[in-house]
Amino acid sequence: MLTYAMGFVLDVQLVCYAIVLTCMALQDRANRSLRWLAYGYISGCVGAALDLGGQWLPHWLSMGLFMEAAPIGYGCFYASVAYFLRRGIRARWLCFLMILAALPFFLEWSVSGRMNLSATLEDGILAVETALTAILLFTTSERETRWPPRTMAAFLTIYSAVEAARVAVFFYTGKMPSQVAPWVENASGIVYVVSCSALPLAFIWMMNARLLLDLNRQSMIDPLTELLNRRGLQAAAEVELARYARTGHDLAVVILDLDFFKLLNDRYGHAGGDAVLGEFSVFLRGMIRETDIAGRIGGEEFVLILPGLGPITALATIERLRRAVAEHPFELGSRLTRITASFGITVAGGRKDLTWDVLQREADIALYAAKRDGRNLSRMYSESLAAETSHIA
Ligand code: GH3
Ligand code: MG
Ligand code: MG
Repeated sequence: MLTYAMGFVLDVQLVCYAIVLTCMALQDRANRSLRWLAYGYISGCVGAALDLGGQWLPHWLSMGLFMEAAPIGYGCFYASVAYFLRRGIRARWLCFLMILAALPFFLEWSVSGRMNLSATLEDGILAVETALTAILLFTTSERETRWPPRTMAAFLTIYSAVEAARVAVFFYTGKMPSQVAPWVENASGIVYVVSCSALPLAFIWMMNARLLLDLNRQSMIDPLTELLNRRGLQAAAEVELARYARTGHDLAVVILDLDFFKLLNDRYGHAGGDAVLGEFSVFLRGMIRETDIAGRIGGEEFVLILPGLGPITALATIERLRRAVAEHPFELGSRLTRITASFGITVAGGRKDLTWDVLQREADIALYAAKRDGRNLSRMYSESLAAETSHIA
């Protein structure tokens, strides 16, 4: 179906993609996925060169090796997807074993002029490779970025089905689809053109979707403790406040600050302090419910958003947490150290038009009172506490 001019355009396109992808892979050398994608397109270019230079090359080279180019290209594409999804990496050897096993047949049939058999074997390998890649893409658990892999998977499924149909036509009729099944021939021409033109773009779409997701995640997460940072907390708090306004279910906000952390830093060094902060955040996450939210807003200052807790339950929960912190031995190399924390608590308590800033400020006032009263304490915000501590405003 492909005219010579169209084939030439596609070959030029392959070369362009190979150049761009190779430059990208050289720029990001640790990215194996990109590297295998570039290998695939370089293999496509070798195929194009064998195709274009066919008349000056020996038959076994121009036709025998040429038949390997597309299967190698799609084998590399499988590897690229597997590295990207970090799954099914070992199965890439299945693709390359098929390619290796097919080589003697391609060489023999090209010399003896049985190109129909060569083409059918190539179709069969492509059908398996594209099906394997589609399965990988369909079964990815990356929920947030599912559209690019699903779109690619849907296309590769069609590609695989068309290639399988070509093999079936040959086995049934003993003739090539171009002679007996023009619709199969046309369909395979279309999927080939779309594959050459759109597959790398779809791959870049997939990479871009993940990059955006990572960027968004990083902007919300504190790297030391992997808890939410200020921006992440703000976003989570807005969701919780909207839920509170809708359902009226109470909401507690807690600010906690580790006591005398400067002393710990002085004794064990800043790295020791960082290790304790990391350990503390794991401990903190283990102590709260799935639906609770934890974040770090400063050096040794953390915030908890506890949906569903009123003043009594919040105080009881935080007292339990405070005692658990004081009793927990934190590991510092071969040594154990103990820390305590002070807690300031406030609750939404049915108030209307509450903002995150107001809740934070109230919890901060309560925390100030806990520090003032001796540390390793929890205090609940109240109007009278606010009046007592008004000088810190
Ligand atoms: P207080 O009981 O009043 O809270 O005493 P404190 O020593 O914990 O409080 P202060 O505000 O005087 O000091 C906080 C210390 O926390 C100072 C700083 O060395 C340490 N710090 C802040 N951020 C980090 C961090 O990211 N890593 C480490 N290791 N230490 C930090
Ligand atoms: Mg402190
Ligand atoms: Mg502090």
